[in-house]
Amino acid sequence: MLQPEIKKFLLDSIRIIHDYPQPGIVFRDITTLINNKEAFALTINHLKERYESYDLDFIAGIESRGFIFGAALAYALNIGFVPIRKKGKLPYTTISEKYTLEYGFSEIEIHIDAFKNAQKEIPNVLLIDDLIATGGTALAAANLIKQAGAKCVESCFIINLQDLKGAEAMRERTKVYSLLDL
Ligand code: AMP
Repeated sequence: MLQPEIKKFLLDSIRIIHDYPQPGIVFRDITTLINNKEAFALTINHLKERYESYDLDFIAGIESRGFIFGAALAYALNIGFVPIRKKGKLPYTTISEKYTLEYGFSEIEIHIDAFKNAQKEIPNVLLIDDLIATGGTALAAANLIKQAGAKCVESCFIINLQDLKGAEAMRERTKVYSLLDL
């Protein structure tokens, strides 16, 4: 568990932008967490400690901010990283899922063979993104992980916007861990 003063430090490192990308949205901008070397290192080191004992085979990160935390953590844990990308960005054969967002809708994809180089028949995957709001993106990503033949053992978010209840919905599917519950 993160100590309250560390939580406050991380929370204070995240910039708030009102009415972006559209009126009414309070956007949590994590670029000011990752350009702060103490905040970024605290975040990745904390997640490394948590997940060292999980017997993970891969981290799957959601485009684009999930790539930043996911790739850093995968390197720290010495496991592979799998990108889940917006439609049309992955070059090989994909599986795709449509979903709704807090602001709009979208479609994400994973490579069909993303988890094929694992030692296990059903590899353990940690799903990661910067933020969970309605949970539409994370649920679609968990579906993709399953369809690609792996098990989503937990989903991890830096920020959980509790009022939007995405984490609650996601908990019916997999364990959920968030650093900052707002
Ligand atoms: P959702 O599918 O509603 O849980 O939305 C989560 C996705 O949208 C994540 O990839 C977030 O990066 C992004 N997102 C949604 N709401 C916000 C917000 N208020 N601030 C920053 N990112 C957001």
